[in-house]
Formats: sequence, structure tokens, C-alpha cells
Amino acid sequence: MPPMREHIRLYVNAPLCPGEGVVLSREQAHYLRKVMRRSDGDRIGLFNGRDGEWRAIIQTQGKQDCTATPHELIQPQTATPDLWLICALIKRTRLEIVAEKAAELGVREIHPVLTEYTNAPPMKVERLCAITIEAAEQCGLVSVPKLLAPEKLQTILDGWPAERRILFCDESGAGKAAIIALQSAARERAPWAVLTGPEGGFSPAERARLLSMPQTLAVSLGPRILRADTAAISALALWQSVCGDWDTGPVALADQPV
Ligand code: SAH
Repeated sequence: MPPMREHIRLYVNAPLCPGEGVVLSREQAHYLRKVMRRSDGDRIGLFNGRDGEWRAIIQTQGKQDCTATPHELIQPQTATPDLWLICALIKRTRLEIVAEKAAELGVREIHPVLTEYTNAPPMKVERLCAITIEAAEQCGLVSVPKLLAPEKLQTILDGWPAERRILFCDESGAGKAAIIALQSAARERAPWAVLTGPEGGFSPAERARLLSMPQTLAVSLGPRILRADTAAISALALWQSVCGDWDTGPVALADQPV
């Protein structure tokens, strides 16, 4: 038996409507034509984070270009739970892992922040975006987290929305075990953010400020100090399992509370 052909899914920005061809980027066209050896009439999946996933037929144009025309909706658009990841900038490869895993686990927004003890090289926004898109393409997702430009932790806390809770991953160990703390907080059905620090941890002033905010839930991720990337991924998994959609499945966009 010949090997099964891989189902290719591509993320695009354009609206997806049946019969309306979408011009793919040069990189996507190259990938389809030269790497995956696809040609006219072959089918791929297209999604844009708004219109669900569509089966689309590709048509090559000239030597390099390619369009894909949606003809059948194969996955309705669903909403990612209202969770942000606020993570201190860390070393590039580790931040890339965090962005990839955050996309897989399901967060709406990723806010990289600079904290007092942050000691990391500048972030490569485009590369991180490409990583989150690739994760969504690979994992059958219909949404990609929004990636924001880095800002100071102080600034983001200054304008913090009153209703959004903060799952503060506090390496001091003073907080309750995350799963227990989340189980009592889950009933509120609030929007949330998971907050993790840099390799050097949070400064005493940052910690004091966070603990003074009514939105903060300080938690421990166990008796061992985790590296920042492990902490972010673990906290997201815990949040998703207790407050997210692991038991209910994804929520169709139309059924979301306004
Ligand atoms: N170097 C610091 C630890 C920083 S770990 C120290 O030795 O104390 C990086 C970040 O991961 C922390 O700021 C925290 O947000 C998170 N983290 C790591 N281990 C944790 C734990 N056991 N509980 C809660 N958060 C933790």
C-alpha cells in the first residue's frame, strides 16, 4: 500500500469563502509545489483563525505562484478559552518552545514581558509568530495565539483589566498548590492570565506588587524549582485541565458568552 498522503493545512490571513481563491505566499507555494509535490486539483486545508477550516483546491499559477480555492467547511471555527500567557523574556530557544507549546495548549494571547531580573536577548517577533502558526497547522487547530510586542511587567500591570485573574507562578513556594487553588477559583468563570518569571525569578518588589493585586492567585508548581519554560507549560496544562476546555471540548464561536 502506498504511504498515506499527509493532510496539509495552511494558515492564511485572507477571508475564507467558498469559491473565492486565496493567493498563497511565495513560501507556501514553494512548500506545496517543490517540497510536498502537490499540483493542480490537489486538496489542502486552509484556516485563518476566524472562518474555521476549509477544504481548498490548489491551482498553480506560472512558475512560482499558487492559489487555493475553499469549497467545503471541514471544521467550524471554535473559540480558544480566554487565557493569556504573560511570560518573562527568556533565552531564545526556550521562548520558542514556550510559544509553540502555548499555541498547542491553547492560549488567546502571548504577552512577553521584561521584568527586573530579565536578562534575555531581544525577541524575534516574526520567528515566534511563524512557530505558533506552524504549531497550529500541525496540530489541527483553527486559531493561532496573538503574539504581542514585549513590554515592561510594570506597564502591563498598571493597565491590568479588573476582571482578569492572574495565576502567578510564585517560585517562593508560599502559594497553594496550583491545582487546588484553581479548583476553587474555577467557579468564577473569569478570564485569566498565567504569569511566569525569568531565569532569575521575580524581584521582591514585583512579588509584593503582584500579591497586593486582588486579581492575583499566587500558586506553587510543586516543591522543585522548574526552569521558566517548564513552569509556563505546566501552568498552562493545569489551567486548561481545571478551568479550560479539556472536559467540555472546544466551544463553537457562536455559543460563546458575549
Ligand atoms: N532562579 C529562581 C527560579 C526562577 S524559575 C530561583 O532560584 O528561585 C523561573 C520562573 O518559573 C519563576 O519565576 C516562576 O514563575 C516559575 N517557577 C519555577 N518553579 C516554580 C515552582 N515550583 N512554583 C511556582 N512557580 C515556579
